[in-house]
Amino acid sequence: SRKMKPEDTIVSFPNGAEIGGQEKIFVFGPCSVESYEQVDAVASQLAARGQKFIRGGAFKPRTSPYDFQGLGEEGLKILKEMNKKYGLNIVSEIVNPAHFEMADQYVDVFQIGARNMQNFEILKEAGKSNKPILLKRGLAATIEEFIYAAEYIHSNGNSQIIMCERGIRTYEKATRNTLDISAVPILKQGTHLPVLVDVTHSTGRKDIMLPVAKAALAVGADGVMAEVHPDPAVALSDAGQQMDLQEFDSFFTEIDKARQLY
Ligand code: PEP
Ligand code: MN
Repeated sequence: SRKMKPEDTIVSFPNGAEIGGQEKIFVFGPCSVESYEQVDAVASQLAARGQKFIRGGAFKPRTSPYDFQGLGEEGLKILKEMNKKYGLNIVSEIVNPAHFEMADQYVDVFQIGARNMQNFEILKEAGKSNKPILLKRGLAATIEEFIYAAEYIHSNGNSQIIMCERGIRTYEKATRNTLDISAVPILKQGTHLPVLVDVTHSTGRKDIMLPVAKAALAVGADGVMAEVHPDPAVALSDAGQQMDLQEFDSFFTEIDKARQLY
């Protein structure tokens, strides 16, 4: 909490990138890693825009067991190629506490997804890792529970934690989840950790992603996460809500302008 540590935690990377520092950051990339070509098509666009991060899921926590579960370690290898080729930091989800060791050679930021926010064995292992952890808010987690999940990581020895508000489940059906925008200033006040907002999984709607992303920066988020896919129509997950490269181009131009304001 801020009471224990008044100054902001800044998560820094060997390539000079920082999360929680002066500059707002972006974490873009496909929902799932599907192939080298698919990830490269996005990574090259990110590198061309000076981006320092790429996201992509290799272990996918899918609602249905019949849906694409991810390429596993093969997917992490593809992501690592993007790190080598473009110097991008790799953000990828871990769903099994036993996988941290294997994934360490490929991943720069371990994501713990909404569904595992209270998987305490994963949180404890994340605490033993020396890599930053991007912790997403659970679908039905209170802010207090979200903070306690971060405490699990912190109390096990890892203070490099990035919080990510990704919407919570409510009765509202107009969006995929209800983005709790007030969680951002509450987390910024109560904790010293960087806070990101995922505008893809929260809204599930490309038509409102830009204003929502601007709102996130305006209320003090340290950055924004969004999904980008070269051909969303054939995506193996979240086909309806990933931006294609053209949509990404206009989104990026606008949100990058907004970034300079805050
Ligand atoms: C993701 O970011 O790939 C993801 C599955 O998101 P969430 O855990 O927030 O649903
Ligand atoms: Mn997704």
